[in-house]
Amino acid sequence: MDRRTVLRAGAGAGAGLAAGLWAVPARAATAAARKDRDWAALKRLLGGRLYFPGDPRFAPLNLPANHLYSHRVPAAIACPRSHEDVLATVEWAGRNAIGVVPRSGGHSYAGYSTSDGGLLVHLGGMRDVTVKGTTLTAGAGARLLDVHAALKGTDLLLPGGYCPDIGVGGLVLGGGIGPATRSHGLTCDSLTATTVVTGDAYTAHCHENSNPELFWACRGGAGSNFGINTSFTFGLHRVPKATAWYDLSWEWKNAARALKGLAELIADPRYRRNLTCRFGLRTAGGRRVYAQGLFFGPEQTLRKLTALLRPRTSVTGTAGIQDCMHRFYETAPGDPYLAGSIVAGADLGASVADGLVDALGSWKPASPASRATVSFFAMGGADTALRPADTAYVHRDATFIVDLAAYWSDTDPSRVADAGRHRLQGLYRGLSKDLGTDAYQNFPDPGLKDWQTAYYGKNYARLQTVKKTVDPGGLFRYPQGITPA
Ligand SMILES: Cc1cc2nc3c(=O)[nH]c(=O)nc-3n(C[C@H](O)[C@H](O)[C@H](O)COP(=O)(O)OP(=O)(O)OC[C@H]3O[C@@H](n4cnc5c(N)ncnc54)[C@H](O)[C@@H]3O)c2cc1C
Repeated sequence: MDRRTVLRAGAGAGAGLAAGLWAVPARAATAAARKDRDWAALKRLLGGRLYFPGDPRFAPLNLPANHLYSHRVPAAIACPRSHEDVLATVEWAGRNAIGVVPRSGGHSYAGYSTSDGGLLVHLGGMRDVTVKGTTLTAGAGARLLDVHAALKGTDLLLPGGYCPDIGVGGLVLGGGIGPATRSHGLTCDSLTATTVVTGDAYTAHCHENSNPELFWACRGGAGSNFGINTSFTFGLHRVPKATAWYDLSWEWKNAARALKGLAELIADPRYRRNLTCRFGLRTAGGRRVYAQGLFFGPEQTLRKLTALLRPRTSVTGTAGIQDCMHRFYETAPGDPYLAGSIVAGADLGASVADGLVDALGSWKPASPASRATVSFFAMGGADTALRPADTAYVHRDATFIVDLAAYWSDTDPSRVADAGRHRLQGLYRGLSKDLGTDAYQNFPDPGLKDWQTAYYGKNYARLQTVKKTVDPGGLFRYPQGITPA
């Protein structure tokens, strides 16, 4: 059985098959660590686009969105421009026994697209996005803003996230939640095909009928586990020419009431598919509660619904879908931060709302820049159309995904970071008592215990089998990376 047949056969095929996979030579693992790597050969393969520390292009390419990890320095940064460049780079890395870290948008919370001493593969030269009919194809390094630009003026939607700078790659590989999740599903639910340069330097074209196990793993198994995805093909959703949107805020004294009202509205079965929502609490610029989202129905009905919540400010409108997305843009602040998440399986109870308001109400900033945010992504709509084992994204029964973060500035002393960490840990402990410890793999927390269960649940073992198939030598590895079965 050749290796491609093995990939197609899938993980459920039994131990004999797995034994065949183990026979694939694990070049990266067995080669002795070499100091005398043939960097000149890689530079030639990449037409010169290989940069070392000291090169003026190195530092800007190396800077991640989360500055907590900006001190990490890879041995070199490769900048491929094509699938063939990526294939040559991965092949070279395997031969030269150096770990590979791909970077698309660089927005990993936990700095998982940074490296100390490895080879950073910066995919920013592969940002092409093409649209044909209702099919969109994005290059390895495309960002959400490239997708929005390609769809501008159309009534076509790819359900994405809030930040325009996040990479489509990192987003879709870990799931992808955002303004249209309840109405149209996760980003990974719209993926119809992807091409991967696997850890053992093969090209795998993946869709439902080709390399189905790897295709399954690429929909929620998170980035940098199986190889480098060089292209992503999505089926787009046609939406009404105009969609209603809303943006609300409440004063802090009404925070608990606002949270409870929002939780009730979101749990109402009449609005599970047509009302999307992200709401949360912020301590910066005066504590406040906010909520925003889309409504696939008349704006007049939306106004009646939002009025019931008695917000202090309420803005609604009706616009083309890309304009709606633009309205929700939220970019990374370019500061250091710590973050974590909880995937909740129950509705938000009154005690959780009260506890949260108490905790953030007493959050004392340790410096002018230090602040905290807690955001709730409402789930429980189109995202539940698939079952937990249908894709590697397992959290199909979620009601909310909670995103917790503490920020400070690059120039703050370490005590400010320590204070943020301490408060965030307290907040997490309090919330997880009520909401559980499942977590969203795209909001990774490096300190999370049993992250395998938290991110992947029962799908973890199957992911490990895929890992063993395509990256047996662990060329792609990081602290919360999937390990071979
Ligand atoms: C400001 C901000 C807003 C966010 N908003 C949302 C949101 O609304 N919804 C949501 O779901 N998430 C959101 N996220 C989280 C985001 O989805 C994840 O951090 C995602 O992994 C980022 O992808 P990236 O390509 O930008 O990051 P990167 O750091 O480049 O990549 C993330 C991981 O994927 C790997 N990777 C990247 N590209 C590839 C590729 N082509 N092939 C293989 N592996 C690859 C990297 O090595 C790394 O392990 C947000 C993050 C930030 C910082």
